[in-house]
Amino acid sequence: MSRNLTQRLNTLRHQADWIGVREVKETIKYCKARNGKFEQNTTTVDHGLMVEVLVDGQFAYCGTDNLSEQSLQEACDKAVHLAKCMSSWGIYPYTSNHRPKAIGQYYSSTKTPFENVNGGDIIRILVDATEKMKVSDKIVNCMAHAILVEQDIMLVSSAGSNIQQQIRSVASQLMATAQDGTEIQTRSTGIPSQQGGLELLEKMPLIQEAERIGREALELLNAEPCPSGSFDLVLAPDQLYLQVHESIGHPLELDRILGDERNYAGWSFVQLSDFGHLQYGSPLLNVTFDPTVLGEYASYAFDDTGLAATRQYLIKEGKLLRGLGGIDSQERAGVPGVASTRASSWNRPPIDRMANVNLEPGETSFNDMIANVERGVYMMTNSSWSIDDYRRKFQFGCEYAKLIEDGKLTKTLRNPNYRGTTSTFWKNLKKVGDISTFEILGSPYCGKGEPNQAIRVGHAVPTCLFENIDVFGGSS
Ligand SMILES: [Zn+2]
Repeated sequence: MSRNLTQRLNTLRHQADWIGVREVKETIKYCKARNGKFEQNTTTVDHGLMVEVLVDGQFAYCGTDNLSEQSLQEACDKAVHLAKCMSSWGIYPYTSNHRPKAIGQYYSSTKTPFENVNGGDIIRILVDATEKMKVSDKIVNCMAHAILVEQDIMLVSSAGSNIQQQIRSVASQLMATAQDGTEIQTRSTGIPSQQGGLELLEKMPLIQEAERIGREALELLNAEPCPSGSFDLVLAPDQLYLQVHESIGHPLELDRILGDERNYAGWSFVQLSDFGHLQYGSPLLNVTFDPTVLGEYASYAFDDTGLAATRQYLIKEGKLLRGLGGIDSQERAGVPGVASTRASSWNRPPIDRMANVNLEPGETSFNDMIANVERGVYMMTNSSWSIDDYRRKFQFGCEYAKLIEDGKLTKTLRNPNYRGTTSTFWKNLKKVGDISTFEILGSPYCGKGEPNQAIRVGHAVPTCLFENIDVFGGSS
């Protein structure tokens, strides 16, 4: 990283009303094993600079992966030229007040730094996990992978901003596929993803969970098909986190509501007039934007415009309060938002994203939740999803389910699915699991924007019970 990015900024010649430079260096280590053998051990390094300028009320950007002074000056000149070209077509008259001075640091909490281990040790853990998943000859494919990310971000500006953030994270996955004739079933851990050091590889469900994953894949081959009908539905955190992501996170992104973002099932059923009024779900529904949770995948202190990130309720007791939008969208939309303007790397401008979007725990233990259900289905681990481009109608499939009969978990069910509409579904939230059911999860792959920006998001959620949900069987 640059020794003195502020000095580099100060040497740039420009006519901008405000200028900022964001330097990002990201090292991604990807390790993979399959069926007892090493398959992949690669490291990629991406390092560059993004210049952002404000000229005549218009922001514009230009990035470069050439770190020289000349290239930085050229990027600055191009950004100023672009801003001048666009300023007469601007949709909002921005000022330097939209990039206030910010100074601070953020460091992921790590016990074992990545430098202290070699790829061979990680590969050995993964190979071992694939061997333990093969509990039968009917297990035909076992895969284990881990993604280790070191991301350093520096942001300086002509307003005197100086922000440094060092993010370290680990995501991993185990997956076993069982086959008997034409019946094929897959069971996995999902993709547990958190900030931290190599200690996460020991803590994450690799070796400990491997045998269970194999056994459950095998069990699904002879499980009964999931029944169809209206049921009480209990969702485990490794399914519910994606339900929150798709039917709360994305529809609350202010750039979708403003009409900017129309890719990847863009737009939203939410209107700007809904903030402060809309009853999004049952009074048990409390959803926060919380970048302060230690170890959650998308924790940070500042977004990529330099806005300080704080915990905020998006939905409180079911009522919609805030959107997922940074300072620019908040100004345009005239509604409260959060510090969530983020770029996937140095070569992208920041846009409205999720970060950590969490469903807050309630008061019901897992046993009490199940005991409350006369006839229902308990579904675990997402396997498929589909949602329309207003984020209204959805359908999800899970890997594994249990029938609930008279307050007890009974038969294992295969190919479980459910569908619904966003507002009815969240209004049917009947019980929210207590802190013992609460899990800190996340995803490395939230896609948005054009050109595409894949970004890491965190979701911490408890187990929850929904009533009168349309459940159905079939392939998933
Ligand atoms: Zn997403």
